[in-house]
Order: sequence, then C-alpha cells, then structure tokens
Amino acid sequence: MRFKHLFGPVKSRRLGISLGIDLVPHKTCNLNCVYCECGKTTNFTGCRKEYVSVKEVFSELDEYLGQHPVLDYITFSGAGEPMLHSKIGKISGYIKKKFPEYKLALITNGTLFSYRRMRQEAAKMDIILPSLDAVSMPVFKKINRPCPGILPDKIISGLIRLRQEFKGGIWLEIFIIPGLNDTPSELGLIKNSILKINPDKIQLNALDRPGTVRGLIKASSYKLKSIAKYFGEKSEIIAAPEIKLRAKADRNNFEKLVFGTLCRRPSTIRDLSVISGVEEVKIKKYLISLRKTVKIDVTRMKRGNFYKIVK
Ligand code: SF4
Repeated sequence: MRFKHLFGPVKSRRLGISLGIDLVPHKTCNLNCVYCECGKTTNFTGCRKEYVSVKEVFSELDEYLGQHPVLDYITFSGAGEPMLHSKIGKISGYIKKKFPEYKLALITNGTLFSYRRMRQEAAKMDIILPSLDAVSMPVFKKINRPCPGILPDKIISGLIRLRQEFKGGIWLEIFIIPGLNDTPSELGLIKNSILKINPDKIQLNALDRPGTVRGLIKASSYKLKSIAKYFGEKSEIIAAPEIKLRAKADRNNFEKLVFGTLCRRPSTIRDLSVISGVEEVKIKKYLISLRKTVKIDVTRMKRGNFYKIVK
C-alpha cells in the first residue's frame, strides 16, 4: 500500500467523491457503538494524542493532492474517532492553506465539542457530520456504550455551542435502531435536542452492514420515513439500500481501493464494485487471490455476504 493514512477516493452516499483521511489506528474510539461498521472498539479511550505522524500525513497529502485529483470532499473519518488525534486542527489548516480548492468534511461522534479547543480545531472544516443517537442516559449507554464521563447532555450543549460558532454546515446523523431509540419518548427527546442544536440537515441512518452486536434489527424504510416526517423538513434518509452512481475510480488501481475498504468496513462485492467502478466478476477474482494472503471474515446478511479483512 502506498498510502497509510489516505483512503479512497470512494463514492460516498453523502459526500460524493470523497478522499478519506484516517487519523487513528483501528479501532480507537471513546464510544463502542453497537452498530459500528468498523468493528468493536479495541482501543477504548478518550485520550487525545498524535496517533499517526502528522509529518507522514502531510507527505501523503502533498503527493496525492499534488496530482490535482477531482474530489468533492476530503473527509476526516476512518476506523475510529478522528477528533482524538491531537493535531487534527493542524492537518485541516495545512490542507486549507496549501490546497484551498478542496472542501473538508469531518465525520465525528460529536462527543468532544463541549470543549472550546475542540470547536476551534474543527473550525476549518466546511461541513461537520456529528452523531446523536440518544438523549436519555439508558438508551445512550445501550447504543453508544461510552467511555466514563461522556454524557448526552454535555454532547448536546457542545453541539449547540458548535452551531453558534461554526460557519460551515452541520449535518446531524441519527442512527435508528428499532427497539432501542425508536420509542415515542426517546424520539421526542431527540426532536427537542434537534430544535436546540438547529443543524442544517438531519440524516437518518440504519443498519446496512454487520454491527458489533448480533441480532440488531434494521429500521424499515416505512419507519425511517415516519421518523423523518416527525423530525421535520430538514430530515433525509441516508440509509440507501443501493448506490446507483459508479465512482470514476482509477480502474487500474482498484485493488488498492478494495483492500483499503475491506480493512476499514465490511462490504459486499456489489458495494466494492460501486465504489471502485470495476465489474463484480473482477472483484470476486481479486478476493479469491487476496484470501491466499490475508484472513477475510464473511458475514451473511439480508443484503448479501459482507467481507472484511481481519487484522
Ligand atoms: S460508530 Fe463511530 S463513534 Fe461509534 S464506535 Fe464506531 S467509530 Fe466510534
């Protein structure tokens, strides 16, 4: 693999052609969400530090962005919580200074914005996509399983502050899990919080890949539609069963993209075909050859077999 910290570009449901930057090792997070597509949190921590070398990230960015690729966003995301990297503000500032033509997105669990410093570090982003899956403590604990000291009230007040100070867009993601956060009382609490936070968009998501806990139910599109209606006109459903657009990826380099994707999240052959723009038959052949050198887990779900590289 030529790049250790850059990932893709992939065709993202929300962000178009998106180059990922992965700033923490798999799987470093201050939450351990039941639905996490990256797997169980193995480094369960609230500690911020330079998990990956900033120098290395700068050098990869210089090499990749120096070729002037066409991208809709450069996205801080990956196999953990990117805000735990202590130099994320420095990295976003570097991109904005050296490559101002690119827009930056931050996919975050939103748990750290009660700290002024965290809001300042995210200030250079063009959009922030934080999560809020629960407001009551029992449901928050069941879904997000936080590190000690992370409280829903604090997250919400942090997001309200972020909205007041941040100039870019805020797209609030809510992951709906039937039986956990779809009760009238929890949805009512979430709606009240949405009104206070005032995000630009409310994006409803549902289980699309294997989570970390068996037996989770995927919210039906009927349920998602009725919740979207209840949350109001800014709501949209992002849990699409299928992505229709094909990425204009570098077809000669698809193996690198497929490998990088399978290290981070379980995917079907169809998913891999969509993000790479390469025929499913070619992906299948590549997976057969890949299995000779790395261990690949397969999980059967309604949407098909999900493959993931086991590290
Ligand atoms: S979904 Fe996000 S916040 Fe939750 S455990 Fe996974 S990486 Fe962490």
